[in-house]
Amino acid sequence: METDVLICGAGAAGLTLAVELARRGVAFRLIDAAAQPFHGSRGKGIQPRTLEVFEDLGIVDRMVAAGGPYPPQRVHRDGGFDDSPFMEISDPTPREPYRIPLMLPQHKTEAILRERLAELSHRPRYGEALESFTQDADGVAAIVNGAPMRVRYLIGCDGGRSTVRQTLSIGFPGETLGVRALVADLDLEGLSRDAWHRWNDGKPESMSLCPLMGTDQFQLQARIPGDGEVDLSAVGLEAMIASRTRRDDLKVHSVSWASAYSMNARLADRYQVGRVFLAGDAAHTHPPTGGQGLNTSVQDSYNLGWKLAAALDGASSLLATYEEERRPIAAGMLGLATRLLQATRTGGGNRRGRAEQQLDLGYPESSLARGPNAGNRAPDAPVRGAAGQPTRLFTLFQGTHWTLLVYDAPSPIAARAGLRIYRVGGDIVDDQGLVREHYGLAPGDCVLVRPDGYIGAMTRDAAVLDRYLDAVI
Ligand SMILES: Cc1cc2nc3c(=O)[nH]c(=O)nc-3n(C[C@H](O)[C@H](O)[C@H](O)COP(=O)(O)OP(=O)(O)OC[C@H]3O[C@@H](n4cnc5c(N)ncnc54)[C@H](O)[C@@H]3O)c2cc1C
Repeated sequence: METDVLICGAGAAGLTLAVELARRGVAFRLIDAAAQPFHGSRGKGIQPRTLEVFEDLGIVDRMVAAGGPYPPQRVHRDGGFDDSPFMEISDPTPREPYRIPLMLPQHKTEAILRERLAELSHRPRYGEALESFTQDADGVAAIVNGAPMRVRYLIGCDGGRSTVRQTLSIGFPGETLGVRALVADLDLEGLSRDAWHRWNDGKPESMSLCPLMGTDQFQLQARIPGDGEVDLSAVGLEAMIASRTRRDDLKVHSVSWASAYSMNARLADRYQVGRVFLAGDAAHTHPPTGGQGLNTSVQDSYNLGWKLAAALDGASSLLATYEEERRPIAAGMLGLATRLLQATRTGGGNRRGRAEQQLDLGYPESSLARGPNAGNRAPDAPVRGAAGQPTRLFTLFQGTHWTLLVYDAPSPIAARAGLRIYRVGGDIVDDQGLVREHYGLAPGDCVLVRPDGYIGAMTRDAAVLDRYLDAVI
């Protein structure tokens, strides 16, 4: 079999999965039914936890350089306005290097992921649609643009209307939230770019215009009536803006992308059927409030990528932990986004806090978690190499390997492929004591960190570590 994995859909989820598989040398094909990449701003907020994921994938600096910080929100009313921070602002800390979301239009995020993929000698194949598939014990037989292909695994990253989910007859229960909205990318004249401008908060005619960092455009978001045609042309949107702002000086020169949609909150009953998996919006759709959708989609793929590669090497029992770990995260995210939507509908504000940053999400209930703190996100900490050179734990974690930190003692286990062992207090120096503090370590303690930056096990027992690693590498 030439291709082990077929990734259906080259949005944020499919591209992230492709980068994960490419850097592990897995043979895959990434297809997208669209003729060319998606060009709208859609999910424009990259949350701090996703920035950490992008650091591991080697693209965080490009992302930050291409985007910018969120401006304050400016609520216009009665001829005046009030400015307030859009989110709680807090400085980076040694354990959390990214504390505020980055604004980057989704088409730019996806372009950077494609660029990374090109560096790894891969590219999405546009104009290739998955039409149907069947599976047996050994693989999946798929039809792509009328041609058959056989793979060992199929991943449906094919968005909210997922062909893969529907072919598997996986239930997608949830609710239609009774809110219809439009989103559009505009070349607009007459408005300052120093704020996310909002009008009519909490009312059916609520509307906002947000300067899109890294571009000269604004993203328009507006509630619209539940049914009927909406004029998405420049003339139509300019008229809507004039009527909702009661200003005639805001001129729309062009509209590069616009969409009218009804908000839903839905979660797939299953993320896996045999050799077929769902990731991203194919598994969960949600209102845009809280900026969680793209981030959750990227993190689905980040969770699945290393497990798929390990399964292809024989560790197939890992695959069941994907749904076990990721479905509860999506369920929580749907609740958060729906509560935020309710708050904006009633004029209760749009301020984001700690929950939206996704830094506290983890898998403590996972069957892969062993010992205290297991399943939690592995925090960063500044350290020094043995020669005194400054570095960070995240730099040591970066890549496809597992990492074993052994605190102030010789390693209780032998070296093996896929694992890097660091003796803290030997190979690396915890001169500020922050590794000890962040992980709560005493001499002899070992922390096993997963390839996706979560603590797999904390123990001093060599037999536990060896058994654990035998099952996952
Ligand atoms: C209007 C709007 C505003 C949003 N705002 C935000 C926000 O502020 N913050 C946020 O985090 N998220 C936001 N989102 C959500 C975010 O855009 C999605 O969560 C994200 O795009 C999901 O990525 P994905 O890769 O799972 O799916 P998609 O981006 O939908 O990609 C799916 C891909 O699959 C392809 N495809 C479909 N069927 C097939 C097939 N049969 N064969 C081959 N290819 C196929 C499609 O062409 C598409 O390229 C918003 C979404 C919308 C619609």
